[in-house]
Amino acid sequence: QAKLGGRGGARFFNEEMQQRTRERVALEAALRLGLRDGGLRLHYQPQIDRRSGSLYGVEALARWSHPQLGEIPPARFIPLAEEAGLVAELGRWALGEACRQMAQWRRAGIPVPRVAVNLSTRNFEEEGLVPMVAGLLDAHGLVPGDLTLEMTESMLLDATPSVLAALQALRAMGVHLSLDDFGTGYSSLSYLHRLPIHELKLDQSFVRDLADNATARALTNTILRIGDSLKLTVVAEGVENTLQAQLLAERGSTIVQGYLYGRPMPAQALADWIAGKPQQ
Ligand code: C2E
Ligand code: MG
Ligand code: MG
Ligand code: MG
Repeated sequence: QAKLGGRGGARFFNEEMQQRTRERVALEAALRLGLRDGGLRLHYQPQIDRRSGSLYGVEALARWSHPQLGEIPPARFIPLAEEAGLVAELGRWALGEACRQMAQWRRAGIPVPRVAVNLSTRNFEEEGLVPMVAGLLDAHGLVPGDLTLEMTESMLLDATPSVLAALQALRAMGVHLSLDDFGTGYSSLSYLHRLPIHELKLDQSFVRDLADNATARALTNTILRIGDSLKLTVVAEGVENTLQAQLLAERGSTIVQGYLYGRPMPAQALADWIAGKPQQ
């Protein structure tokens, strides 16, 4: 056991920090490479309209397979991408990849109504986002309503005028905008009606706690009512079991997403999943 505070301890501590820094730098370099050489891919998770049983859309979720370390979850590599200044590139990559995939599904006659892509605040700060989205849709023969852009509530708390202008321009174009992880961002509700969004995603922590927590049920009710009054679609995330599904249905939730319906899966698996389901 090294004694911290002594000179030897300080050196030991330093070496450990240096070791960690080396590991992080190596991981960042691998992520940078992965972004450019195909080490990243997207999985797609179905979102269901409970009323009709039909597919409402799919959410694209990034997956990274490290050449030596194997699968690294987004919870680990998204913060890494942020630190390394790669998160904007990740978002641009995901946009391009999701549009390419959407066009392929269309050509194959696979009925995916829309694809949702998670973006970082960095993406909305970048000047080129709006023309890039327009260019991608055009290049792939898609219409703006084929695409949903998800952003987190916390990200919008300190939205600059240029971010808001980008959101307005995207909305005017007809792209769908969705507020992810809604209910966790400590925001004032008064800002909601000023945002040009179409959709709220009820954070999965509420869904997880529905069965045994009265506060989670009350907040879920509230968020669904907010959606009703502001004419926003509410997507309930993280639905894992039939009890949660039932408690959501009782509260008037219509669009649901979670392991109960389908996990995030490769594009081909999603096509098979759709083929195996009765479609409306
Ligand atoms: P998110 O956008 O809120 O995505 C939902 C997360 O919940 C996903 O985790 C999904 O796999 C997971 N999930 C779905 N259904 C269930 C369920 O029934 N139970 C549970 N426990 N979890 C469920 P994932 O794929 O690990 O992604 C985590 C987060 O990483 C995402 O949260 C998103 O914020 C971020 N992320 C993923 N892909 C991208 C990307 O391409 N760009 C950016 N900027 N962020 C991304
Ligand atoms: Mg999301
Ligand atoms: Mg979420
Ligand atoms: Mg999240």
